[in-house]
Amino acid sequence: MNKTIAIIKGDGIGPEIVTEAMAVLDTVAAKFGHTFTYQDAPMGGNAIDTFGVPLPDSSLETCMKSDSVLLGAVGGPKWDDQPADKRPERGLLKLRGAMGLYTNVRPARMFSDLSASCPLRPDIAAKGIDFVVVRELIGGVYFGEHSTAEVDGEQKATDIMAYSEHEIRRVAHVAFQMARKRRKRVTSIDKANVLDTSRLWRKTVTEVAKEYPDVELLHIYVDNAAMQIVRDPSQFDVIVTENLFGDILSDEASQITGSIGMIPSSSMGEGTRGLYEPIHGSAPDIAGQNKANPIGTILAAAMMLRYSFDMAAEADAIEAAVDATLKAGIRCGDIWQDGCTLVGCREMGAAIRSRI
Ligand code: NAD
Repeated sequence: MNKTIAIIKGDGIGPEIVTEAMAVLDTVAAKFGHTFTYQDAPMGGNAIDTFGVPLPDSSLETCMKSDSVLLGAVGGPKWDDQPADKRPERGLLKLRGAMGLYTNVRPARMFSDLSASCPLRPDIAAKGIDFVVVRELIGGVYFGEHSTAEVDGEQKATDIMAYSEHEIRRVAHVAFQMARKRRKRVTSIDKANVLDTSRLWRKTVTEVAKEYPDVELLHIYVDNAAMQIVRDPSQFDVIVTENLFGDILSDEASQITGSIGMIPSSSMGEGTRGLYEPIHGSAPDIAGQNKANPIGTILAAAMMLRYSFDMAAEADAIEAAVDATLKAGIRCGDIWQDGCTLVGCREMGAAIRSRI
């Protein structure tokens, strides 16, 4: 197959980790007889420096014409004082909106060789962590109206949170379909005791569930969910929730698995084109030092092969190579344990490629 992949290297460690993921993709292409063509799409702080905006139209066009998009990470202290509409993250929000990416899928899986990095009690970690957070991505408070005004002699800020039934329904379908391929249990998370948007969320998810009688549905409040994820994560299979709750809970979920450097995510809409990225940020504190763990980005590339290009064997080959590398005791600094071999970003990429 021939596939065109838009590449957003981004800022900080972005270029280092994406370079390793591209090299892994090239190894897979050579082994399985595919051709991947890469097209650079500048976004984030580097795009602000060059083009004056976080997402130039030319980059957006490159992404829209591609078969899929691979992203490192954007942002950094250099651009923290930019006005709100010129911050690096705005580029990402604009891209998600333009590509119609309404669902974000983030696996929270603990690699058995990394159980020592799990911050939970050993008896809790021993029960295993293997669930998926399905987050609504282009609705809710992040996409509502934002305003700050002078009211009665002081500043007052307002952010509007809104959801329509169709926005809830389409992400609920993704969650139920995913649960069917897993352990057939969906936990929907809301704050229906307080918020109208949550009451509509609960009602709509319950309606969608009628189309999936083989899948169990539970509803829990977001505050309880935050506790349950650390108390007994083994109870979860597929979590579905709105944008803001999903942002927070998916970070909590990834933290309990060990390192945020290990976790990929995919954002999808209608059709097969998606945006694939690691869940972490641009890690300015270690940028340019060959210290970044590229595994999250490499596993994001594997997700791209599986979900956008229908290349299951190729994705399996990458995931197996990551497992084998960890089993061989090869570790970047963020996941290093006594007795293991400490390597940098480039060496980790090479170790994984050699096992494909
Ligand atoms: P971060 O995820 O960049 O870093 C948090 C900590 O984790 C740091 O100590 C960092 O060194 C470490 N870390 C992260 N990824 C790592 C990796 N692959 N290997 C080893 N260690 C890793 O979060 P932050 O410091 O809050 O944010 C830094 C910048 O990234 C900010 O400008 C923020 O806005 C941006 N950001 C971007 C995205 C994105 O592009 N999707 C997401 C989150 C944050």
